Amino acid sequence: MYPQNLHTHGVLCDGKDDYESTVRRALELGFSAIGFSGHSYMPYSPAYGMSKKKTAQYRALVNGLKEKYRGRIDVFCGIEFDMYSDDDLCGYDYVIGSLHYFKRGDRYIGFDRNAEQVQAVIDEEFGGDGMKYAQAYYEELCHLPEYGKMDIVGHFDLITKHSDTHRFFDENSPQYRAWALEAVHTLAETIRVFEVNTGAIARGYRRTPYPAPFILKEIRELGCGVVIGSDCHDNRYLDCRFQESLELIRACGFREVLTLTPRGFTAAPLD
Ligand SMILES: [Zn+2]
Ligand SMILES: [Zn+2]
Repeated sequence: MYPQNLHTHGVLCDGKDDYESTVRRALELGFSAIGFSGHSYMPYSPAYGMSKKKTAQYRALVNGLKEKYRGRIDVFCGIEFDMYSDDDLCGYDYVIGSLHYFKRGDRYIGFDRNAEQVQAVIDEEFGGDGMKYAQAYYEELCHLPEYGKMDIVGHFDLITKHSDTHRFFDENSPQYRAWALEAVHTLAETIRVFEVNTGAIARGYRRTPYPAPFILKEIRELGCGVVIGSDCHDNRYLDCRFQESLELIRACGFREVLTLTPRGFTAAPLD
């Protein structure tokens, strides 16, 4: 079993549960660690991001849980940093870097939305051309490392969230793959850990974890590591499809998977 989840959200951002209940659930599951990754402050997205005040509350609360549960489970205080956030990345145990918005002048256009809203973004911003949408995503994602020091790339191919039900672009086309691989190469120069994310399965959008296998294979070729996270917004899904994710990683040629410990990332062999 994979013994931790570093991608979890609670009530101070857009998660359903209070933080201590998530720690208790992690203990029930036999985890050795649990990491919180509240959404960073996004002035353009008050409904999802934590305000500056809530961010301070979040840090105090999670650090309190770290002390309270010391010796039973490692509690980590992380952050899911949206690329355009106005937030200080210091003082966290780890940073997940993610892109959920396009920036056009002073407008921020969210695309981590339901399929109808994604279609509207493609129609309004890309003249109805889904391939242009995909290209814009990967080109913008390449700039992630310029916004701060990050430890983990979150949901690398997030734009494939609706691929099981909607064909916004052709994921198998050489052009799409070239854009995605270019972004893998650019990010891998500075961020050496990528996340296998099962959040879209928990929410009923997808049947398989992402990134896609061709991306995972490239991540391995570049010598980067992977962690597994469920992008948990509801404790019932804290270990959603972890077994399947381990099998996916193994099938993509990885011989080990990373976990975070108080001493940093450690590789565990996949048998
Ligand atoms: Zn995210
Ligand atoms: Zn998340």
